[in-house]
Amino acid sequence: MTQRNRPGALAQLSNDTMQQAEGPSHADIREAVRRLCGRFDGAYWQVLDRERAYPAAFVKALTDDGYLSILIPEAYGGAGLPLAAAAAVLEEIHRSGGNGAACHAQMYTMGALLRHGSDEQKRRWLPQIAAGTLRLQAFAVTEPDAGVDTSRIATTARLEGDSYLVSGRKIWISRAEHSDLMLLLCRTRPRDEAHPTRGMSLLLVEMKDAVGKGLTIRPVRTMLNHATTELFFDELKVPAGNLIGAEGEGFRHVLDGMNAERILIAAECIGDGRFFVDRATAYANQREVFGGPIGRNQGVQFPIARAYVQIEAAAGMVERAAGLFDAGRKCGTEANMAKMLASEASWFAADVCLQTHGGFGFAEEYDIERKFRETRLYQTAPIPTNLILSHVATHALGLPKSF
Ligand SMILES: Cc1cc2nc3c(=O)[nH]c(=O)nc-3n(C[C@H](O)[C@H](O)[C@H](O)COP(=O)(O)OP(=O)(O)OC[C@H]3O[C@@H](n4cnc5c(N)ncnc54)[C@H](O)[C@@H]3O)c2cc1C
Repeated sequence: MTQRNRPGALAQLSNDTMQQAEGPSHADIREAVRRLCGRFDGAYWQVLDRERAYPAAFVKALTDDGYLSILIPEAYGGAGLPLAAAAAVLEEIHRSGGNGAACHAQMYTMGALLRHGSDEQKRRWLPQIAAGTLRLQAFAVTEPDAGVDTSRIATTARLEGDSYLVSGRKIWISRAEHSDLMLLLCRTRPRDEAHPTRGMSLLLVEMKDAVGKGLTIRPVRTMLNHATTELFFDELKVPAGNLIGAEGEGFRHVLDGMNAERILIAAECIGDGRFFVDRATAYANQREVFGGPIGRNQGVQFPIARAYVQIEAAAGMVERAAGLFDAGRKCGTEANMAKMLASEASWFAADVCLQTHGGFGFAEEYDIERKFRETRLYQTAPIPTNLILSHVATHALGLPKSF
């Protein structure tokens, strides 16, 4: 990789250190991300959380420094680094007390375009996505009546002339209001019981041509600041040239991207877990009750130690899954296991950290209650723990499917 081609702060890291950085630690990248995050302190995130506002300045800083295009090949203007490097970026954002959810999908949603788009589509969109002038950070799969059974999605796209006409409804589509492009999974053929995941297709929706012209976006306020929305499609026209990959094979095309998403979200949970352990440890050392630090009591220190053990174990699984992904090997089970272990470990750490802080854990200014709410999401999205256990039971252990 040439330094010249790397955008922003990534370009400042020397080629030598980048070679080393491609090992498990990515120390240089972590240090640079920590410096960037230092400019966005707890007070910054607290105001956004209170107002449910989008962290535009933070996302711009990450874009300018090249972090959001870290996975895009250099030929299209990105840094061309492995998934493990992207994981290091997101982990550090979360360890610093920030939240990468506002933009993490800009890193990986382009994967479907990169792997399955035509050369012309890649040339048309990827350089602008890499430059940050086009945001592709909305990925619309979930529907209210389908739930986790994606084969039951009912949003349809019907080809008429040189356009698809899209009708239906999606729910929980995050960042749709902050994206220029949205990857949409819809049915182009009715569900076939023998091949339930076939007959779905991927369309790239250009939001400026869609909003108010067949697409309506309704924000959904949630317990955390996540910019999530509900989408209504009413005969939305999407050019046939925006079909990504083969018609009817959309589900297969998104699977790789789902593994990347699970691994990166697991890395965010590791960052959250380390944030909680850091904060709990510091507070337990400093807070004095009964004439000494509360952390000398084993009732306080053992849960923190247990949280640390669980986070470190989960981090090992995240590294393993990312390593398999980067080697181009099958990693579905490992990506799922990493997401499950990391999200459970971060939630345990969150609870311990809150408990360690007594009443102060509930005060906004400590950031713990906010991070507590934020990290809870990842046992439900992008896939709930039960579905992961079902995958492991049937794929890794060969147990019979229940559905
Ligand atoms: C803040 C937020 C952001 C999101 N962002 C996006 C996004 O950008 N794009 C997108 O497409 N989706 C997004 N999602 C959707 C998310 O992926 C889904 O909410 C999640 O996959 C669960 O689907 P569901 O809500 O329909 O739950 P349901 O399918 O209704 O399931 C409810 C519960 O039942 C359990 N369950 C269901 N079937 C079984 C079974 N057979 N065995 C055992 N347990 C079962 C599930 O594990 C779950 O706990 C987001 C969700 C949230 C809350």
